[in-house]
Amino acid sequence: AMYQIKNDTKGGAAIFDSGMQHEALTRMKIEQSLRLAILDKRFCCAFQPKVDIRTEQIKGIEALVRLRNDDGIIQAPGTFVDLAIELGLIDELTHLVLAEIMRSIDLIDDAFGTDVSISINVAAKQAGNVVFMTSFARALEKTGCATRFIVEVTEDAFVAKTRFQTEILPVLRRLGVKISIDDFGIGYSSLSALADITADEIKIDRSFIVDIHKRPRSQGILKAIESLGDALGMAVIAEGVEKFEELAYLQAATRIKYAQGFYFSEPVFLENIEPGKPAVSKRGTSSDSRSVQEN
Ligand code: C2E
Ligand code: MG
Ligand code: MG
Ligand code: MG
Repeated sequence: AMYQIKNDTKGGAAIFDSGMQHEALTRMKIEQSLRLAILDKRFCCAFQPKVDIRTEQIKGIEALVRLRNDDGIIQAPGTFVDLAIELGLIDELTHLVLAEIMRSIDLIDDAFGTDVSISINVAAKQAGNVVFMTSFARALEKTGCATRFIVEVTEDAFVAKTRFQTEILPVLRRLGVKISIDDFGIGYSSLSALADITADEIKIDRSFIVDIHKRPRSQGILKAIESLGDALGMAVIAEGVEKFEELAYLQAATRIKYAQGFYFSEPVFLENIEPGKPAVSKRGTSSDSRSVQEN
């Protein structure tokens, strides 16, 4: 019996230890692989068109970063962007994304047109970092086509008077870079904060667009955002349009000009775009970069 108890205790402790160790190890492995991916520049971008909902013309594209694992698995940003922020690697990642865009600029022009805008995401935390944003603004200027770029930042960057608003926005605007408020409606910016914002574009969060055709409360919110856009001189984009009914509602019942969403196109890799084929094809493309590991 003694032996049994002793063995149990030992076994239990061992299991506990290995569990803790396993968790710490997994975390270390994930951190390490992200650091390595950045060192090796193992990132790529998928591009999702922004479409004029009445002409269905592509007006812009958004670069959405993906991580290429050693084993060939491609990871969506939901699995590593927050960690990159936490580890202080996000600034480097953003510079890599811009470099990747510029490396592909001829392919982008061939696929989508030379006059499409190019949106790039910047985390709210980066947006308030004057040192990073100064170097990023310089990098945008160096591309020689700064006026094509739109920097997408979530509402959080606009809460109260931050250095983003007072020091960085003016620099970007001087370069002709446009500013977009991403995921609008789910963040923490107050209406009074909005009064001070000089952004060019509002992207209505997907959660308001889902089944918009049968959700009167979302319709009301949409109307309000539309008026806000009019009043403050910002273009309005609907994010995450997936269904024909959603698009039909936007076309018939709103003056919203632009949309992005799987209905038009999923984010696509440039190498998967067939030459001569329209980049916006409705429903079901083979160049699907969405089927990536979400976690
Ligand atoms: P986001 O900027 O709001 O981008 C839109 C996300 O919604 C993308 O996910 C896109 O694939 C997805 N999406 C587009 N249309 C639809 C639709 O019709 N239905 C649904 N269900 N989803 C749709 P993704 O590529 O996984 O990116 C997620 C987020 O990661 C982005 O949200 C953005 O906040 C962040 N992110 C992406 N690239 C970068 C980057 O280079 N830097 C930083 N800091 N963040 C990035
Ligand atoms: Mg975005
Ligand atoms: Mg968004
Ligand atoms: Mg989002």
